Amino acid sequence: MSLFDHADLIVVGAGLYGLTIAERAASNGHRVVVIDKRPHIGGNAFSYRDDSTNIEIHKYGPHFFHTNNEEVFTYLSNFTDWYPFELRVWSASGGKIYPMPINLGTICSFLNRYLSPGEARKWVEESAKEIAEPRNLEEKAISLIGRPLYEAFIRGYTKKQWQTDPRDLPAETIARLPVRFTFDSRYFNDKWQYMPKDGYGALFEKMAAHPNISLRLNVDWRDCRQDASKALVVYTGAIDGYFDYRLGALGWRTLDFEAERLKGDFQGCVTVNYADETVPWTRIVEYKHVRPETVCGDETIIMREFSRSAGRGDEPYYPINTSADKNLYASYVELARRESNVFFGGRLGGYSYLDMHQVVNSALKAFESKIGPRLGQCRK
Ligand code: UDP
Repeated sequence: MSLFDHADLIVVGAGLYGLTIAERAASNGHRVVVIDKRPHIGGNAFSYRDDSTNIEIHKYGPHFFHTNNEEVFTYLSNFTDWYPFELRVWSASGGKIYPMPINLGTICSFLNRYLSPGEARKWVEESAKEIAEPRNLEEKAISLIGRPLYEAFIRGYTKKQWQTDPRDLPAETIARLPVRFTFDSRYFNDKWQYMPKDGYGALFEKMAAHPNISLRLNVDWRDCRQDASKALVVYTGAIDGYFDYRLGALGWRTLDFEAERLKGDFQGCVTVNYADETVPWTRIVEYKHVRPETVCGDETIIMREFSRSAGRGDEPYYPINTSADKNLYASYVELARRESNVFFGGRLGGYSYLDMHQVVNSALKAFESKIGPRLGQCRK
């Protein structure tokens, strides 16, 4: 008997995209097998609670849920209660600390004097006007905040994070960050900014708990793809990996984490970004500050994050998306079109820098428009 006997749908990868598709298919009466090569579900958004401190640790780096999409928020609310959480980030630059993303507080501290919103806007516009039509990350950043702020807060961090010339990175990457001429220092603008009450781990467990879903962990697609025969497949791993890199490897960044358990309070907030190139890590996250009232005892856990180029055996985290990558991805999409039983999606399958809410949205849309109708046709 094979792993996939009686499955209407095989989902490869138990991250947020795969679980959303699996849950939708299961709730529509289809039998789904979800496999993942890792020993847990949730992909890179997986979290667990540290036994001795009760701190929720995001194993693969911090995930803070935010969205303006009511459908996505309502959908996920089926599987979790929430608590409100608005992320605030600090950036260490040149021996000083500033609120990030760039807002009036950042600008006033940087210039060491008080500027009104109008004066700050004028100061930024003056230094930003050197770029009329931004074509890449560097130009986009300068057009938004001007060169002095770009050099203090963006250039070094971006160099460490991407190890790619910022002129060869897409403008969209920096457009993720708001720029504000008020003292609003929240990291995101979105209407709904919440964290799952019992953690991401519990949210994912609930999504996967449908009786029509059979979950197989520690299973690698490469070891069982021959058993899939003609079944419908949703593949959420890296698209170049699916095709054994036959056209070449897409550029990805991976992360290394260095965790440390300490006494007391290390940095006084959740996240400090390190803008200077001389500091090897990009940021330090101290998870106890997300929900300090639930922490037991006096210990804290910090995670230093280091970014590097992903090799074949590494977990891909961030698609670099240079123009060469975009062309290569387009060629893989051509190959993917010929796989009539396979749908590709998610951050890895779609080679796109999506946030969690965008992942869920694209899965809901793909299910409604393509996958659901196909499953309806093959109903046994
Ligand atoms: N960025 C930066 N300095 C910062 C924060 C972000 O230069 O202090 C740039 C950097 O290029 C980064 C991009 O903005 O890759 C997007 O940042 P975001 O915080 O959205 O990245 P993520 O949280 O996904 O790692």
